[in-house]
Amino acid sequence: MSRVLVTGGAGFIGSHYVRHLLDATDVEKVTVLDALTYAGHAENLGAALLSPRVRLVVGSILDSDLVAALVGQHDQIVHLAAESHVDNSLRDAGQFVTTNVVGTQVLLDAARQHGIGRFVHVSTDEVYGPLLDGVAAEDAPLRPTVPYAASKAASDLLALSYHYTHGVPVCVTRSSNNFGPHQHPEKIIPSHITRLLRGEKVLLHGDGGHVRNWLHVDDHCAGIDIVRRNGLAGQVYNLGGGTDLTNTELTGLLLGAFGVGWDRVASIPDRRCNDRRYAMSIDKATALGYRPRRDIRIEIAATIDWYRQRPDRWAPMLAHALSVTA
Ligand code: NAD
Repeated sequence: MSRVLVTGGAGFIGSHYVRHLLDATDVEKVTVLDALTYAGHAENLGAALLSPRVRLVVGSILDSDLVAALVGQHDQIVHLAAESHVDNSLRDAGQFVTTNVVGTQVLLDAARQHGIGRFVHVSTDEVYGPLLDGVAAEDAPLRPTVPYAASKAASDLLALSYHYTHGVPVCVTRSSNNFGPHQHPEKIIPSHITRLLRGEKVLLHGDGGHVRNWLHVDDHCAGIDIVRRNGLAGQVYNLGGGTDLTNTELTGLLLGAFGVGWDRVASIPDRRCNDRRYAMSIDKATALGYRPRRDIRIEIAATIDWYRQRPDRWAPMLAHALSVTA
């Protein structure tokens, strides 16, 4: 049994991960540390907050006193808190460096001082940059092209350096694109779904040929937890193995699910530095027992249902996304 501090646990993936810890493990206590930025919502945790095993602490990973006090009460850290939206990082990289790099350093220092038993740093396939062919193994060069990915790459390296220099038992996970309920409508799948639900056109960047690997958020959370339990300190584990789709294929999947045609698509200019393709090998995580199971072509229906049933959850977030884009 262990006590786990989950940073960013009121965000999209973090809230699913907290549910995973409650439902699928014997973890004794889960503390969520979340600043509740525009991307974090206590409501994402829902009924999990009623569990006597769960506590939500509203605060920042940049608050070193708070972090030190919390880390001292836990055996393990699973670190998901981050600024996570690429477009925002193109407008203002400063917050990404502060949260993703400095925030990670604050956590690592506390982990070092308190002799934490496990530090899982959750990262992204975007640190490898675009691959025109082949797949990136964990030792592939890091070639991030946008400030979001660069800040994640920097934090990955910082986390690993605390393993080498201070013996902090760090594991880094790198996941492909997640989908599922509770994702902020600034991201492509919820953006498409909420536009279709509102009778608007969906926006397709450039020629739509960009390839992303789509992983169900529950598969990602299961992978993070396999690494928390069985990963080797100092190692990186890729958590991909979802479904590869071009953005045009993804858009076609969603149009089909809504029973509407391509007249509901508006083509817009490509974003700056829109990486053409990400792809990772997952052999290392598979050797630990990682088995992604959910195909987006089947599972997207449940995600659409959630957005159909919960406009109360996403409409306020949409207002934020529109105000930033405007
Ligand atoms: P998200 O934006 O939905 O959630 C981020 C959470 O971090 C929010 O709850 C926010 O309030 C919190 N946060 C931000 N700054 C904070 C601070 N200073 N202190 C405490 N909490 C803070 O992001 P997500 O999509 O759930 O991603 C979670 C993690 O997974 C991130 O590290 C991201 O880089 C990584 N990741 C995401 C994806 C994806 O497809 N969404 C893929 C690979 C990796």
